[in-house]
Amino acid sequence: MIDVRALTKVYVDKPAVDAVSFFVKEGEVVGFLGPNGAGKSTTLRMMTGFLPPTSGEVLIGGVPMHRDPLKAKRLIGYMPENAALYPEMRVAEYLRFRAMLAGGGRAELRKAVPQVLEECFIGDVAETVIGSLSKGYRQRVALAGALVHRPKVIILDEPTIGMDPAQIVKIRELIRGLGRERTVLLSTHILPEAEAVSDRVLVIDHGRILAQDSPANLRAALKGRNTYLVTLKAGPKAVAETFAGVPGMLQAAETRRTESEVSLRLEAEKERDLREPLFTLCVREGLTLLELREDTLSMEDIFLRLTTEDETTKEAVA
Ligand code: ADP
Ligand code: MG
Repeated sequence: MIDVRALTKVYVDKPAVDAVSFFVKEGEVVGFLGPNGAGKSTTLRMMTGFLPPTSGEVLIGGVPMHRDPLKAKRLIGYMPENAALYPEMRVAEYLRFRAMLAGGGRAELRKAVPQVLEECFIGDVAETVIGSLSKGYRQRVALAGALVHRPKVIILDEPTIGMDPAQIVKIRELIRGLGRERTVLLSTHILPEAEAVSDRVLVIDHGRILAQDSPANLRAALKGRNTYLVTLKAGPKAVAETFAGVPGMLQAAETRRTESEVSLRLEAEKERDLREPLFTLCVREGLTLLELREDTLSMEDIFLRLTTEDETTKEAVA
């Protein structure tokens, strides 16, 4: 449903997003997890057609964003970071406006607005002027704005920022529920949030995807692993599976692919030194090894930089 291919954004000289590729299936809820500055918002802006990529492409429901942006955008409900709302508009009026922009007809509108007001717990402020709302309410109005046209693909950039604990719990429930019929990608720098709502988590740092797995497996990854970064000359074959078969290997994932090179991130048991078996495997499989090194940036380091405190939610659930 979402197909991101080697998406890259270079602002000055250093890439903020570096050949990021991933796929999200229909009906999946995927968490895009990374510390501040990792490149989450930049990726989401490119995916939603608000920022032109330096290279790479995005397909939404098979529609290429760069070739048919109107059609691709219509499939998406996007809640950006610091969403711009119209402070002088009333909430319901704003939502009718958003639904109309997205091409909703009158009859559809009449149903959609009350429904989304209820879903996002903002029915009580339907006739309030947006500018006078608290941050938590405004976040939920922005979320409602992204959902009001019933998009197939929902992309949310740190949706719970600024909400109070009780609201956070409810909004996470709502997001989980959305995944039943729709495809959801949400960014967060809060590990428990990614765990609470996602079927699968993509971990991003320094503009690169470092891992993608179920929340449970990612937790396991915290418990010390050796990580190897391998770069090969690109061939026609997908090679991650070949590496997954090496004894002691826990996870092998392609992290970057260009015309000429493929990079992989390999997670192995801590006790084993896999450098030699990896070299031997490349020789046997006829793979041209361009680089093999142990990663200095471990998953543990990344997780340490993520906001793991989620006291707010605990309080609210208790
Ligand atoms: P995240 O959303 O994960 O916190 P961002 O995508 O906002 O990260 O930023 C990724 C990197 O790109 C950061 O180093 C940030 O400073 C840089 N960056 C973001 N926007 C711009 C911009 N408009 N110009 C230059 N650098 C930018
Ligand atoms: Mg951001």
